[in-house]
This record gives sequence, C-alpha cells and structure tokens, in this order.
Amino acid sequence: MSKIIKCGKLFCAVDEIVQENAVIIIDDTKITSVQNAENFIPNTDDEIIDLSDKFVLPGLIDTHVHLGFGGKTSLVEVSEQPEIVAIKGMKNAQLDLWAGFTTVRDEGYPTITGCANIRDAINTGVFPGPRIFTSGMYITQTGGHLDFRYPGETLGFNTFKSGNVANGPEEVRAAARLMLKYGADQIKVVVTGGVLSPGNEPGEQNMSIEEIRAAVDVAQMHAKITSAHAHGTAGIKAAALAGVSVIEHCTLVDEETIQIMVEKNISIVPTFIVLKVIAEKGTAAGIPDFAVRKAIALVGSHLSNIKQAYDAGVRIVFGTDCGTPLTPHGTQAREFELMVQAGISHTDTLLSATRYAAELLRWDDKIGTIAPGKFADIVAVDKNPFDDISILKNVSFIMKDGNVYKM
Ligand SMILES: [Zn+2]
Repeated sequence: MSKIIKCGKLFCAVDEIVQENAVIIIDDTKITSVQNAENFIPNTDDEIIDLSDKFVLPGLIDTHVHLGFGGKTSLVEVSEQPEIVAIKGMKNAQLDLWAGFTTVRDEGYPTITGCANIRDAINTGVFPGPRIFTSGMYITQTGGHLDFRYPGETLGFNTFKSGNVANGPEEVRAAARLMLKYGADQIKVVVTGGVLSPGNEPGEQNMSIEEIRAAVDVAQMHAKITSAHAHGTAGIKAAALAGVSVIEHCTLVDEETIQIMVEKNISIVPTFIVLKVIAEKGTAAGIPDFAVRKAIALVGSHLSNIKQAYDAGVRIVFGTDCGTPLTPHGTQAREFELMVQAGISHTDTLLSATRYAAELLRWDDKIGTIAPGKFADIVAVDKNPFDDISILKNVSFIMKDGNVYKM
C-alpha cells in the first residue's frame, strides 16, 4: 500500500517550476516518484490524500533555532535544571513541527548533551518532533556572548553556563572536540558580541581568527560544518577568512567581506525577525535596556546589507533564532515576509527553507526536495505563496517520514 498525495500546485524545490496536477507516491517513509495525475492509476489499496485545493512544497527547514529557549523576555533557561530545560526543549521541538518545520538546526543549547538527546529520542520514535541538527553548546570566550557564568564561576575552562567558554586556539580545539564527542552535528562559534548578554557589544570582534581557524580545522577533520555567530564587520570578515561554512545574522557585513563570501561559498542565515521584534517591542515588552539598545543599533541596516550580499551572489538560508525573546517556537514563519521585504525573490525565499537549507546541512541526499528517494517530509498551504508569502504562517498539512501530523 502506498500513500498518494494529489497536489493542486506542487513546488518540488528541485528547480524553480510550479507543477499543476501532480501526484506524489510515498512508500513507507520515502518518496518513490512524482508523476502527472492524468497518466496515473492508483492501486485499489492505496491511501489517497487529496490536497488538490492546496499548494504543496517540501517540509520547511529552520536552520537557526534554540530548542533550549522558549521565547521568554530573558533566557531564563540558563539558570534552570537540565531536566526542566529538556522537557521544555521537547515541547519547543514539537511546536516547530506543528508550524510545518520538519527539520530544525539547533544553534546552541544550554547543556552539552541535551539537544542530542532530544534529537535521538525523536529519531527512535520516543515522541514526535522534527529532525534535529545540533551544535551541542556554542563555543564562546570569557566575557563573550552567552558567557553567563557568575563572577565566582569564571575560573577554569570546563565551567559551563550556556556558552562553552574557551580562550586561545588550543582551548577552542578541545571545546570543539568535546562537542563532537557528545554528538554535535556541527561546530558553532561565537565570534562577536551579541544582543542578549550584558558586558559585550555586537559590533566588537571577540574571537580571534586563530581561534576561529582552530574550530574550522576540527570540524573539517570530522567532515562537519562550522557556523559563526557574527554581527560586527570585523568579526564577519575574520569568520569568512577563517573559512566557516555559514555566518549567522551577518548584520554589519561590508562589500569587502561579501566578495570573500562569494569566493569561498559561505552562506548567510540572517534571522531578521529577532532583532526586529526586540527593537520594536523593546523595554515595554520586558526586554532588558541593554538588549533593546543593542538591537536598535543593529536593525537599521540589516535588511539592506543582506540584500547587498544576496545581489552579489551570497546564498541566503532561512533561519530565525526562534526561542530567543519574543519569538517563541512555532511563530517563526514571519521571517518569510521579512525576507521578501528585504528584496529576496519568492523563489529564493522558498528554496532558502528547503533545498538551500538541506544543502547547508549536507542532508540534501535525504531532505529539502520532493524527489524519489527523499524522506516524505511534505507540507501544504491553502494559497499560493508566490502570491502571498505570509500564508506560510498557516501551514495546513504536515507530513514527516510519511506520517501525517496535520490535515
Ligand atoms: Zn541564535
């Protein structure tokens, strides 16, 4: 028995074409073929899923979430027991799936093993959730973004509090190896200051090029990618020169570094939504003063800088930073509207959350397109997103691994 999805419109993400009257044939967890409905005759025991009034596309991929954070006004989870954070993380993962995100990349979790455990529990069928690609903890430096240790805790390298603090290339190397030992799918480094931690500035470079290179070196030896958090111009340039795979936020990127990124094929995950909501809703919503001040300073040129990189040929990949303040899991599809507002084409916006995202994760042999041999991760919406991209906030059909989660 196969599952047969009758599609009104179908965007496979293999190319830029929107097909009419296609059927998708699914056996067990995988897609067997995509055919024209006119020539297709189902077997009598096939299960027909009629989406002939819907627009069908691959399961969405958010390449920047924090499952350990729930979108509260501050990152309360860094002070909570790991078991509590894990339970919340399981719920957050499900909220992402219920919004149509069948795969998420976790960009830093408050404990070393928590996210890998959630990933493995989902993969072994303990509870439903999206596919998870995890960083373990973010690697930062003393006083850097996400170094949330109290003054009495700042002695010694293996003292964790949200960020894995490492100073100098050898400590970074050890920290990266530690993440991989406990199941990380990639290495995440914090290169500049951030919005949400006091005591550092987003414009400042906090990780040296030698430290970034050490992380990239370890990741490459293990055939993994390296992701760099970077807002400021100097930090973005250092990350690009060191050869990271992708730069998160990339807020104050300049022309010189855009050229380096084009040459080295380095992607950007902009996460427009988080800076925008923190800057707009501000202290009235309960966000600390220091974070609002920093977000306002960054948000002004973010869209235009990313558009400049996009026009120059840098690949933009969908990611939202959801879980951080005021962007709870399941609400991140607003990012699609901001991407279009920034000037990214509808086609590239859809590809950014499907094929481009899968290629960044090096999972494009498994997910990201609707094609034979891929896992049956498929979603649908009630309108054509080329006419109205905001429809992606209301995904009306969700299938992952051939199982229907919403219809
Ligand atoms: Zn983040």
